Amino acid sequence: MPELTDLSYVRALCEKYDFALSKGFGQNFIVNPGLPPKIVDASGVDKRYGVLEIGPGIGVLTRELAKRAAKVVSIEVDERLPPLLAETMAGVDNFKLVLQDVLKVDLKALIAQEFPGMPVAVCANLPYYITSPIVMKLLGDRLPIESLTVMVQKEAADRLAAAPGTRASSAISCAVSYYATSKMMFTAAPGSFYPAPKVTSAVVRMEIRPTPAVQVEDEEGYFALVRAAFGQRRKTAANAIASGLGMPKDAVTAAIEAAGFDARIRPEALTLEDFAKIQNALAR
Ligand code: SAM
Repeated sequence: MPELTDLSYVRALCEKYDFALSKGFGQNFIVNPGLPPKIVDASGVDKRYGVLEIGPGIGVLTRELAKRAAKVVSIEVDERLPPLLAETMAGVDNFKLVLQDVLKVDLKALIAQEFPGMPVAVCANLPYYITSPIVMKLLGDRLPIESLTVMVQKEAADRLAAAPGTRASSAISCAVSYYATSKMMFTAAPGSFYPAPKVTSAVVRMEIRPTPAVQVEDEEGYFALVRAAFGQRRKTAANAIASGLGMPKDAVTAAIEAAGFDARIRPEALTLEDFAKIQNALAR
C-alpha cells in the first residue's frame, strides 16, 4: 500500500474514483507524513483503546489509529468515499465505517455497541465548518469517553483551549472548561493539507472531567446565560445578558452587582464560578 500522504497517490486515487474534494464538507486531507503519528501521540491512545474518528476522508489518520488502537470506528458523511476507503483500508480488520452525518448519530448507542468494556477516545481532523457543533455534541451528550483530540483551525483551537476569565475566552471556552480540561498541543502549517487551507491548523486535547467544573442546578439555564453574555461582542456582560435573555437591564445589573461584580464587567473576565454566582443572583 503506497503512503496515503503521497500527493501523487492521492491525486491518482481521486482520479480513479472520479472523486473531487468537496469544500462544502471541509475536505482538506493530511499530506504531511509526520502529522498522523503526532496526532495519535497527542491523543494518548494505545492497544487498549476504542477510537471514534469523525471524518476519515481517505483514511490517512484512520490507518495510523488502527495501527495503534484496539478498534477504530469512523463516521463519514460523504457517500462518495466508501469505495476509496475500501481500497486504502484494505486488510485493516479493526476498522469500521459508519456512513452518516456525525450530528445525527446516536453516539451513546454507537459507543455502547462498538466499544464494550474499552476505554474510548475521540481523535479526528475535524471538518472546520462545523467544529463547534461537533465539539458541543461530543461534550454535551455526556458520552463515556476519556478524551477528545482534534485538529481544528488555529483560531478555533485558541477558543477551545482558552481558560474562562481570560481575554481569549468565549462561550465555547466556557462549555469546554465545564466538561473538560483542555490543552493546545501543536500547530500545523497550511501546506500539511491537500488542498492547503488558507489558515494555520492546531491540535487541541480535551480530557473529560469526572464531574463538571462547577455544580449548577439548572444546566440549560446556565449555558443560556453564558451564551447570552458572549452573544454580543464588545458589549458589557449586563447589556448582552439583558438583550440575549430578554430581561430588563436593571434587573441584570442588580444581579451582577449582587453577585459581587462591577456592572460594567465584560464576559471574558468572568470564570465558570462567576457565571454560576450571577445565575443564582438572577434566580433570586
Ligand atoms: N481525516 C482525514 C484527513 O485528516 O486527511 C479527512 C479530514 S477532513 C478535514 C474532514 C472530513 O470530515 C472529510 O472526510 C469530510 O467529508 C468529513 N465530514 C464533513 N462533515 C461531516 C459530518 N457532518 N459528519 C461526518 N463527517 C463529516
